[in-house]
Amino acid sequence: MNVLVLNCGSATVKFQIIATDLERIQRNTDEKLAYGVIERIGGEAIINFGTAESPTIRSTATLRDHKAAIETIISWAHSETTIPSIKSVSDIHAVGHRVVHGGERFKDSVLITEEVIKGIEECIELAPLHNPANLRGIEAATAAFGRGIPQVAVFDTSFHQTMPEHAFLYALPYQLYRRYKVRRYGFHGISYRYVAYRYRQLTGCSKENTNIIALHLGNGCSIAAIKNGISIDTSMGFTPLEGLVMGTRSGDIDPAIVDYVAAKEGLTAREVDLMLNKQSGLLGISCLTNDMRELLDEVRENNDRRARLAIEIFCYRIRKYLGAYLAVMNGTDSIIFTGGIGQNAPVIREEVIKHFAWCGIKLDPEKNYQTTKEGVISTKDSHVSVMVIPTDEELLIARDTVRKITSARP
Ligand code: ADP
Repeated sequence: MNVLVLNCGSATVKFQIIATDLERIQRNTDEKLAYGVIERIGGEAIINFGTAESPTIRSTATLRDHKAAIETIISWAHSETTIPSIKSVSDIHAVGHRVVHGGERFKDSVLITEEVIKGIEECIELAPLHNPANLRGIEAATAAFGRGIPQVAVFDTSFHQTMPEHAFLYALPYQLYRRYKVRRYGFHGISYRYVAYRYRQLTGCSKENTNIIALHLGNGCSIAAIKNGISIDTSMGFTPLEGLVMGTRSGDIDPAIVDYVAAKEGLTAREVDLMLNKQSGLLGISCLTNDMRELLDEVRENNDRRARLAIEIFCYRIRKYLGAYLAVMNGTDSIIFTGGIGQNAPVIREEVIKHFAWCGIKLDPEKNYQTTKEGVISTKDSHVSVMVIPTDEELLIARDTVRKITSARP
């Protein structure tokens, strides 16, 4: 089965085409046929497409909306001679969508029906920036492929629906939860599910015995405590703003700052919220960039003080959360790094883990600096293993799509 995996943002579509089915899942022989990103939909769009066999090709085109973008993907895919298994639209058999917010309603991935679409619409007030774009992607795929194609929604929040009340409730007046569902939801759930699955594959551990702390460090950053295979706490909250320092998000701050800054700067609460989401984090402190690689270069080449400070604050926040989550978990078997920074920045991993020598957690410097893909980076005698596991959200979405379609068949 060829599954088109779509991750739709307000003006972007990221996609992969993955050949998979129940047997391939079992044997871990899923095949990535194509990938790509279309940016700036609504104007002169920038298109980057690639296949397993050929390098990425960049082009531009005027694309009015998501439907036009998805049609571009389809016509490119079957005109591409390096994907012999796709000759026409009918060779795409299913579509899997990343959907950011499933609220309390969606505790698992689901086959998309009219009722599911209504449910995703109901979650718009919880994710006003993300869910509308995800819905646009579903609509566009229906228009491009017709109503007959099965589509599955895979939610970023679902994995964390197992959090106990004491972890997901804020200490706010309880009626705010009852009336408006103000609570911690957590995000990056697709990534954490993949990482936990891959950890089990690498270690031979059963789901029930999976006790790990995972750090997803990308543009967005979070940490998750996974006990007996399920999420028991995570640092992102009601929105992705809470928790760790991120590329442009502040993470935790004293909520009283919002009102104070609004008054001082003559801003509305919404404008301060935007500042916390878009102008803070690594970018806000460094005044240079939200990109960790560029910050590390700045420190190395120019010893830039603010770039160094941004990195220090970033690592210090992770260290505090890691300490807290070790307590939440009553210890852990493994600490796992993933996401663009987690996978590619050994210096950040070192900066975090070096502070845990007191409890016997030790990195092997050579392994840490040489592991570019996947593996254990702690010493043999470390009390807890430390690992790098590259995330693969698209693969998890494709597999969930296959599973949901198959289980829905009579
Ligand atoms: P997203 O959250 O958008 O999926 P990624 O997971 O790709 O983003 O992470 C992007 C972050 O990873 C950026 O801050 C980028 O600088 C950082 N990154 C990527 N490669 C490296 C590297 N080799 N060294 C340090 N940071 C890196």
